[in-house]
Amino acid sequence: METIVLVTGANRGIGLEVGRQLAEQGALVLLSGRNLEATNLAAAAIAKEGYLVEALQLDVTQPKQIDLAASELETRFGKLDILVNNAAVYLDEGSSIFEVSSGTFQDTLATNLVGPLILTRRMLPLLKRSQAGRIVNVSSGMGALHDMRGREAAYRVSKTGLNALTRIMASELQASGIKVNAICPGWVRTDMGGSNAPRNVVQGALGIVWAATLPADGPTGGFFRDGEALDW
Ligand code: NAP
Repeated sequence: METIVLVTGANRGIGLEVGRQLAEQGALVLLSGRNLEATNLAAAAIAKEGYLVEALQLDVTQPKQIDLAASELETRFGKLDILVNNAAVYLDEGSSIFEVSSGTFQDTLATNLVGPLILTRRMLPLLKRSQAGRIVNVSSGMGALHDMRGREAAYRVSKTGLNALTRIMASELQASGIKVNAICPGWVRTDMGGSNAPRNVVQGALGIVWAATLPADGPTGGFFRDGEALDW
């Protein structure tokens, strides 16, 4: 059976390009998004190029949708090979930690941190049935403690937390052969990154695809950009 991939937040931006690159490698890619119409359009555009891509509705903050997605994967494929936790929000751009509302803080953590935790946990039995299970947590240099600065506290803390989840999961999954890594795509021109970013989505997606397709002797529990280790 082909490699089965699930990418979250894949109706636009880096997630969409990650899906495209993995489909180009021959995988069956489930592009997931919270807006089914937008996700259908994105999937149709790649499918038209002749690749195996499907749309799946999945809001990572909605446990019921996570359950439905897992049930569908179980029924149709009985496994999941690659999970890319890409979906994220950047709600407090430019805000001081002393100004950001508790609602914004909680919404950010719900999408960027708790969502990946709940989704990964639910998908784990399926990942364990893969010959080469890979979990990629799309993180950011803004979550690196060694370079922590002011502003954007909610987003930064969500990515620092995601980095911690990465290490904890990798440690607990060491014996299973499933690899878990946190990847910073660099500063990329997307709705989130803005038009001044130096990288395009193709460049941003490459390091994520690298982590998604690591060989058996590849690293786990690391933080990387462009396949190079970053300081936490
Ligand atoms: P983007 O263009 O803003 O896309 C974000 C995606 O996440 C969209 O598809 C969005 O869906 C989805 N999303 C948001 N909340 C969701 C939810 N609750 N459930 C499911 N999907 C949800 O951002 P991007 O630049 O491609 O970012 C992708 C990843 O790279 C993120 O993890 C981001 O933190 C990381 N990153 C980006 C940069 C950069 O410079 N761009 C730098 C470092 C790290 P909707 O269309 O429905 O909103």
